[in-house]
Amino acid sequence: MPDRCAKARRLGTALAAAAAVLGAAGCSRLADMGLDGRPLTVDTPIGPLTRWRLLRNVDEPQACRAWLEDAGVAFTPVTDRAEDSFCVVSDAGTLGDEIAGTDVRLSPRRPMMTCQLAAAMAVWRRGSVEPAARELLGADVRRMDHLGVYACRRIYNQSAGRASAHARAAAIDIAGFQLSDGRRVSVARHWPGDTPEARFLRRIRDDACQVFGTTLSPDYNAAHADHLHLESGWGGVCV
Ligand SMILES: [Zn+2]
Repeated sequence: MPDRCAKARRLGTALAAAAAVLGAAGCSRLADMGLDGRPLTVDTPIGPLTRWRLLRNVDEPQACRAWLEDAGVAFTPVTDRAEDSFCVVSDAGTLGDEIAGTDVRLSPRRPMMTCQLAAAMAVWRRGSVEPAARELLGADVRRMDHLGVYACRRIYNQSAGRASAHARAAAIDIAGFQLSDGRRVSVARHWPGDTPEARFLRRIRDDACQVFGTTLSPDYNAAHADHLHLESGWGGVCV
């Protein structure tokens, strides 16, 4: 069977080449890419596969709550609710300030959101917001200011059309941050320019794009000039 033998040799050569490439990439690189088979934790560095890996972990309500518990995220489930014809909130809870031993206060505190959004917020805060503030601003984040999560409305408050992700409590609008040295970083004030604050905001926006399904910043339109709209899901819209 010369043909079969030749094919087997070619396959063997291809496998050896693939093994060499994977070996050269290094185990830590494979872990960063999520290709080492381990489940994503709140401490896994953010990378191109983060959204996919996270949603695989938190797709089912029970699995999502278990994932948050493992991550030490304070999340208290609330009963499902429906309002009007298009505002239906299910598998939601209130998000506390803690992630596995660290506190960053949300203001207003304890917003209600879907479990998937809470998980994405935990990954983004731990993997992006906190280290980016230390690296680019030399301070810790003490408080994250938001403009709200749940709102029974359609996109852009129109009277007809598609329901906003806020009508499912699946999106949060982040307006700014209070730092440990007293400084305040505001999306409205600091987005323009090339200051450390602007670089911080762009970094966390870029990281958010790998964690959330839809990430909209002041670069998107005037309606988002003062906040980052972060929406959980597969999506993939990033501006
Ligand atoms: Zn929004």
